[in-house]
Amino acid sequence: MPSQPPTGPSRRLAPSTVAVVAGRPDRVPDAPFSEPVTFASTYNAGGAVEYGRYGNPTWSAFEQALGELEGGDARVFASGLAAISAVLSLMPEGGVVVAPDNAYTGTRAQIDERVAAGRATLRAVDVADRAAVQAAAAGADLVWLESMTNPNLDVADVAAAAAACAAGPLLVVDSTFATPLLQRPLELGADLVVHSATKLIAGHSDVVLGVVVTADPVLLARIDDHRRLHGAIPGPMETFLALRGMRTLALRVERAQASAQTMAGRLAGHPAVSRVRYPGFGAMVSIELAGGPEAADTLAAQVRLWIHATSLGGVESTLERRRRWPSESAMVSDALVRLSVGIEDVEDLWADLVSALDQL
Ligand code: PLP
Repeated sequence: MPSQPPTGPSRRLAPSTVAVVAGRPDRVPDAPFSEPVTFASTYNAGGAVEYGRYGNPTWSAFEQALGELEGGDARVFASGLAAISAVLSLMPEGGVVVAPDNAYTGTRAQIDERVAAGRATLRAVDVADRAAVQAAAAGADLVWLESMTNPNLDVADVAAAAAACAAGPLLVVDSTFATPLLQRPLELGADLVVHSATKLIAGHSDVVLGVVVTADPVLLARIDDHRRLHGAIPGPMETFLALRGMRTLALRVERAQASAQTMAGRLAGHPAVSRVRYPGFGAMVSIELAGGPEAADTLAAQVRLWIHATSLGGVESTLERRRRWPSESAMVSDALVRLSVGIEDVEDLWADLVSALDQL
């Protein structure tokens, strides 16, 4: 049941409120406000769950909250890649998949593995090219969008893709960088949403977690079956931490986005920066350095407040040159540094960044 205030007129709650109130235990005297961590491998027989691989009350609280935020039913997984794997399992053997020509490397690696084994055919597209996505969707089985893409920050037109998929392929959106506060793909017509909850949703760089959301009960049952059978289940403690992190999602995203917007504007005027990639929203900014990969590595080594690290979406600001990973796509500039803007004071962040940039 959707969260509603206990009294007063029934109205649709704002997402920032849903992030706080959804997935709470019933309000009975002396009940805790937050679903506790339940460590259990098995349950007394005769109930709806029975076994720890099939369900857990801490998972359910997280799933309720995230499902309400996205407008569907959620299933939590051990990682973002486990969630992605569950969704790709929906494809028929030998099916045609449309996927971004550059996006998170793990997603493409999973798809490429299927293609190499003769289990799928890939149509790679620029997700920002609406017409190309629509053309590729014709006759496909599954259309995978990532919006924004990691790390080029390209934005897809999800509603236009949904229109092209209406009669055929499943439309999936990896919405990790946007969060349900900035984009709700199910409302735009997507069939499934995936998140690496490791990033902004959990928000504190202390858990690895994934989630799939859908409003289609048939797809939900298949995702559920996949998790039960393949067993990529999350730990209850990780799920608890992610839900606790999600309570402050709106505050964190608002703050980080405001700082990212400031930072993107100032970076565009710095002579060491040849290109700023920022779609105007979100907490991620990618920059390309005029001095090439060496300058990018020097920047990463010289910052003091920013942390040189992979991953993103935490309260602390991090950055990395993405092509330091051999698995990163050659479509990503080797001088690209992805900045994940956190919630520190924006002037402190800027002072640290600009002092490192000035030395290049
Ligand atoms: N999707 C995107 C957009 C990502 O950036 C990542 C990881 O960086 C993943 C999925 C995979 O998530 P996880 O690391 O939680 O498995």
